[in-house]
Amino acid sequence: MNQQSILVSHAGGPEVMELGDAPIEAPGEGQVLVKIEAVGVNFIETYQRSGVYAVDYPFTPGTEFSGTVTELGENVRHLKVGDRVATSSGTKGYAQFAVVDENQLGKVPANVDLRLAAALPLQGMTSHYLTHSSYLVRSGDVILTYAGAGGVGLLLTQILKMKGATVITTASTQEKKDLARAAGADYVVDYNQVEATVDKVTKGQGVHAVYDGIGKDTFDISLKVLKRRGTLALFGGASGQVPPFDLQRLNAGGSLTVTRPKLADFLATDEERAWRFGDVFGWVASGELDVRVGQEFALKDADQAHRALESRKTTGKVLLVP
Ligand code: NDP
Repeated sequence: MNQQSILVSHAGGPEVMELGDAPIEAPGEGQVLVKIEAVGVNFIETYQRSGVYAVDYPFTPGTEFSGTVTELGENVRHLKVGDRVATSSGTKGYAQFAVVDENQLGKVPANVDLRLAAALPLQGMTSHYLTHSSYLVRSGDVILTYAGAGGVGLLLTQILKMKGATVITTASTQEKKDLARAAGADYVVDYNQVEATVDKVTKGQGVHAVYDGIGKDTFDISLKVLKRRGTLALFGGASGQVPPFDLQRLNAGGSLTVTRPKLADFLATDEERAWRFGDVFGWVASGELDVRVGQEFALKDADQAHRALESRKTTGKVLLVP
């Protein structure tokens, strides 16, 4: 049987993503077939599509999605047909169906909408590992992050507030600033106001940690506003990748720490994945964490979704609906 999926034949702009027919694969040992409800759009797919990250072509993007299990492969232990599931670590998700290893799937709580569940695993678990593992946030910390109305930004801000931090963030429009404030951010400022704001809020001491997903345009300021022994977690490059830099700057800045983490390394075991997935879905189920879907596109309009994300036109999560 065939399905519709997005195919990328070579690296390029959003226009290289075309809807086409592809076979529905059969689940192998320890795998299940998932009928996809919605797909989370993430920056990683723009890096893969454009050639910033190497992939083999033809390529179908899509790591994050939610759906229903429709078929089981051999020796599947924890899932059954009909289970509602979500993943941040699938492959070929820009499609109607995908085969996934069962240990990469988490069960969606009964009171969480299945489409909404596609908006959470990747950015939710990223916010979780940043705050719980890359730099463990403590009550009273002052934390700087950017793009407070973005997919990660809205979730990260709420989690930082749950942990008792003071949050300084940025946003480029008034609408985005209002969203970041509603998520709990204490100070929402223009990018050129970051240094002055940190100075004022911390009385010149600097912030305990910076979570920087903007990269090229913000890296220097991120290093500059850290307090002595502060930590910079550089987790993305929405404005471009950071060029090589002189390690002596960490010494001169006050024994600073810089880390360049990625989600896969913080889902290293089944236990770790279950912990992070359970926490973020549990917070949504209990109403502690609000997930905002800013835009939805039909699967065939994946190119428009990428254009919107890359041109700063989105807020919260962007979904594709097959
Ligand atoms: P967002 O929804 O945050 O979108 C990116 C936002 O960045 C924009 O809306 C914009 O907000 C801001 N921005 C500032 N400068 C630029 C620029 N030059 N071009 C585009 N956007 C810019 O995206 P995500 O939440 O999906 O991802 C945020 C970052 O997190 C990305 O860099 C992504 O790669 C990274 N990431 C990393 C992971 C990891 O494990 N390492 C996992 C998940 C995401 P504004 O207009 O308000 O400035």
